[in-house]
Amino acid sequence: MKREFIFIGPPGSGKGTQTKMLSKEYNLPHIDTGSLLREAVAAGSEEGKLANKYMEKGQLVPIDVVSKIIKNRLLKDDCQQGFILDGYPRSLEQANALDEILKEIDRDTNKTLKVFYFNVDQEKLIDRLVNRRSCSKCGAIYNIKTMKLTDPTKCEKCGGKLTQREDDTEEIAKKRFKTYFEETAPLIEFYNKRGVLREINASQDIKTIYENLLGAINVNS
Ligand code: AMP
Repeated sequence: MKREFIFIGPPGSGKGTQTKMLSKEYNLPHIDTGSLLREAVAAGSEEGKLANKYMEKGQLVPIDVVSKIIKNRLLKDDCQQGFILDGYPRSLEQANALDEILKEIDRDTNKTLKVFYFNVDQEKLIDRLVNRRSCSKCGAIYNIKTMKLTDPTKCEKCGGKLTQREDDTEEIAKKRFKTYFEETAPLIEFYNKRGVLREINASQDIKTIYENLLGAINVNS
């Protein structure tokens, strides 16, 4: 059965944690444009250099760069049975571009696409972001405030070094929220009108959110 999922939610709403778990459970590729762009920045490519100018201001990277990355990724063999899009699309323009890309690569997602909107108390978000760390080796995500790690610099899963993203500072996080509310939030209405939107209460603990997510996936699927 094909499964095509899109995740929408403000920065820090826990999409990354949940989509990584889902990707393992359903053996679906987890396509996270933020990580793909950070890889391009780290590689020092022309695309990466351009993307970084926007990322360090908490703004959306130009659509041409993102569309190219997404199209190339969706064409890979591992997307045949489906995909999980995390952090894409992020504007109405990108949602329309995604429709075009899916047409161009001959993917009909009309009956299979589900879009999950992670709704979360906003006051929790800045706190989550500034306390977020991720493992530079395996990508595991931690909250150093709530998770009480023995060593807040070391991954409990693989021993890798925990690092903080450059844009997880309070200043840039605030700009990312502004971008989210202005550009991404209109997608909720866009996908709701199509009848494919499912809202998830993302203010709960990780396990409860995941159970609700699985429940929402399996309703009428
Ligand atoms: P994220 O890891 O999802 O929080 O994304 C980090 C940053 O990457 C964002 O603040 C944007 O600058 C950029 N970015 C990620 N996904 C997209 C996208 N779909 N379109 C444009 N920019 C993006």
